[in-house]
Amino acid sequence: MWALVSLDAVLADIRACRACADQLPHEPRPVVRVFPETQLLICGQAPGNRVHQSGIPFTDPSGDRLRAWMGVDYDRFYGDRRLGVAAMAFCFPGTNPKGGDYPPPRRCADLWRKPLLAQLPRMELTLLVGSYAQAWALGDRAKGTMTDTVASWQEYLPHLLPMPHPSWRNTAWLKRNPWFEDEVVPYLRERTRLILK
Ligand code: SF4
Repeated sequence: MWALVSLDAVLADIRACRACADQLPHEPRPVVRVFPETQLLICGQAPGNRVHQSGIPFTDPSGDRLRAWMGVDYDRFYGDRRLGVAAMAFCFPGTNPKGGDYPPPRRCADLWRKPLLAQLPRMELTLLVGSYAQAWALGDRAKGTMTDTVASWQEYLPHLLPMPHPSWRNTAWLKRNPWFEDEVVPYLRERTRLILK
C-alpha cells in the first residue's frame, strides 16, 4: 500500500512539474504512464508533437512500429498495467528547424528518473530506446555509438535491452542493420510474451 501511495505521489509531482517552462516554446505537458504492476518499462527519448497533443505515449507511427516489434496490439499496449512508458524527458522538447525534435532536457532525468524508478518494485526489463536512454542507464557500459551498443545487446541482459528508436527516421538504419530485426526483435517479442503471459 505504501508503495502504491508513493508512486501516486511521484506521478502527481511529475504531472505538476513546470521546471522547463521558461525553456519550452509551449506549456509543459508531462506524459508518463506507469503503474505499481509495471514489469516492462519502455524508456524512449521524449514525446513528439503528436504525443504532446494526445497526452498518451506512443500514439504515433513510432508506437505502431514498437508494438509490432513487441508483438502486442494497441489494446494490450494500453490496457495491460505490466507495461509502462517513461521517457528520458516527459515533455515535448519542441521541433528543431534544422530537422527532428530537440533533445530531451537533461534536467528531467536528473529530477525524476530515480524517484520514479524507486517506486517500480516489480521491474524485470527496461527497453533503452535510443542513445539518450542508453547513455543514462548504461553509463560507461555504453559503446561509442548507438549501433555498437545495440549490437552488444546480450551484454546487458536480463534487465536492460538497448534498441534503436522505432521512428521512421531510423528506417535506413534498420535496412543497414538487418540483424536487429532478425535477432533482437524475436528476443524482445519472447520476453514480452513471457512477462505478459
Ligand atoms: S520535461 Fe520533465 S523536468 Fe521539464 S517540465 Fe517536463 S516533467 Fe518537468
